[in-house]
Amino acid sequence: MVHHVPGHWAARGPAAEALACDGRRWTWRRLAERADRSRGALRALGVRRGDRVAHLGRNDPVCLETFLAAAGAGAATVVLNRRLAPAELAYAVGDSAPVVLLADSGSAETARRALAELPAPPRLVVTGGADDAYEPLLARADPLPPLDDIAPDDTCLVLYTSGTTGFPKGAELTHRGLLSGAAALRAAAPIGPGDRNLVPLPLFHVGGIGYALYGMAAGAATHLLRDPAPEALCRAVGDGATHTLLVPAMLPGVLRAGTAPADAFGRLRHLLYGASPMPLPLLREALDRFPAFRFVQVYGMTELSGAVTALDPAVHRDPAQARRLASAGRPLPGVEARVADPATGAAVPLGRTGELWVRTAQRMKGYLGRPEATAETVTEDGWLRTGDVVRADEDGFLYVEDRLKDLIISGGENVYSAEVERVLAEHPAVAEAAVIGVPDEVWGESVLAVVVARDGARVEEAGLDAFCRGHLAGYKCPRGVALVTRLPRNATGKVDKNALRAAHGARERVPRQPR
Ligand code: ATP
Ligand code: MG
Repeated sequence: MVHHVPGHWAARGPAAEALACDGRRWTWRRLAERADRSRGALRALGVRRGDRVAHLGRNDPVCLETFLAAAGAGAATVVLNRRLAPAELAYAVGDSAPVVLLADSGSAETARRALAELPAPPRLVVTGGADDAYEPLLARADPLPPLDDIAPDDTCLVLYTSGTTGFPKGAELTHRGLLSGAAALRAAAPIGPGDRNLVPLPLFHVGGIGYALYGMAAGAATHLLRDPAPEALCRAVGDGATHTLLVPAMLPGVLRAGTAPADAFGRLRHLLYGASPMPLPLLREALDRFPAFRFVQVYGMTELSGAVTALDPAVHRDPAQARRLASAGRPLPGVEARVADPATGAAVPLGRTGELWVRTAQRMKGYLGRPEATAETVTEDGWLRTGDVVRADEDGFLYVEDRLKDLIISGGENVYSAEVERVLAEHPAVAEAAVIGVPDEVWGESVLAVVVARDGARVEEAGLDAFCRGHLAGYKCPRGVALVTRLPRNATGKVDKNALRAAHGARERVPRQPR
């Protein structure tokens, strides 16, 4: 169970570092003691088995400590996105109905405004800063050890999906799911005592809290980054990190930051990346720049407690497998994957595209309070429909081609965004590119490329068109190019295609069936 993690490591190395953040350091003993006290404090606030406790704020040890505390009390933690506006936050708090909302001092005002909109708001407890109400509660609380009858399939964490394709949904994650995910990821990137895991992603994302648990469960120290700006990220990597997980959107900042010479990253061994497609020129540049790092691509999702496939370090460095840099790798241990016809669930012939279906102990219990959405996503025999279009090669490597909701159908032919985006990214004048389908009288839909030019470079539509025609069938080539200065991205760096479609006159999306 997740709440056993601090006690387990405190018994083996009480003085070893468990958590670090902003110059503050917690040993395992301190974390275990504080989690027990925090459990007592939550109980005094009225938190009971089956309840929820919400957290809002920057990455901070208090979030992990209260998560471990609540889990051991049979309650689930809801980690909320601190970038939500008050109305969005009010929705998420109303939806998840926590008994207590812990908000750090920077988010307290947003929290107050959100709670004012709710008929039955949770109790607000401010953590840190001048109005800190949490530490006094902790100081007064009686330590409470974990309950001894918590089941592996109890929900201990509710995370909202990134909302890339629509309204975020709260995924109910379990002890078994999270710990299975952590263990599976260790098969691709081993970690243990003596290692230091840097967590730059926000804890409200599975790449934040799920990834933190991957190191913690194995006894590594966890370094939480409060602010993942490139310079701070590079400094934190230089501060003894052996492992980290970045999203592709963070990589250009690391490559360009003044403080990022490879030798300043002396201890880093495992560089994991994922959560959205990785542009290949960027990956090649990073591989060149950091020859000693073991790069691991991960593919996963909130509903699956994190990563379910990984692309091994060895494949990254093998020139004979260069084409596989575009792959998200193969299923992790304990993960069954099927490239399915979304209508029937039957496996498609090798090499054809289909929807990725996954069966694993990592799967969520369901979407909180949304039985219909759960039934649409999880089949009766336990497969989770990922909503992603993939293709498998002869050795089982999976290539993520698009999301079903983003698939473009032009003249009756499928156009997979990732394939076109990969080609655009290879053009020397292109810094970033995303494609969307826009209405077309003749073709039904046609491909629009939304492009950010490299500094000092000019993107010419004719040149880009000629380049695409050299690499793609005609129907896949963009029929229009929109130049922008930046792509709209959500909190985890994913391109917000709904925003792009709204800005470029395309229709609202419904899921597509690959044909
Ligand atoms: P929502 O479900 O609310 O629309 P979301 O799917 O972006 O948002 P997450 O659970 O954070 O929410 O992200 C999971 C998705 O991210 C996957 O379904 C996939 O589309 C994408 N993804 C994750 N890893 C990779 C990867 N390595 N390569 C390409 N895409 C990835
Ligand atoms: Mg999703």
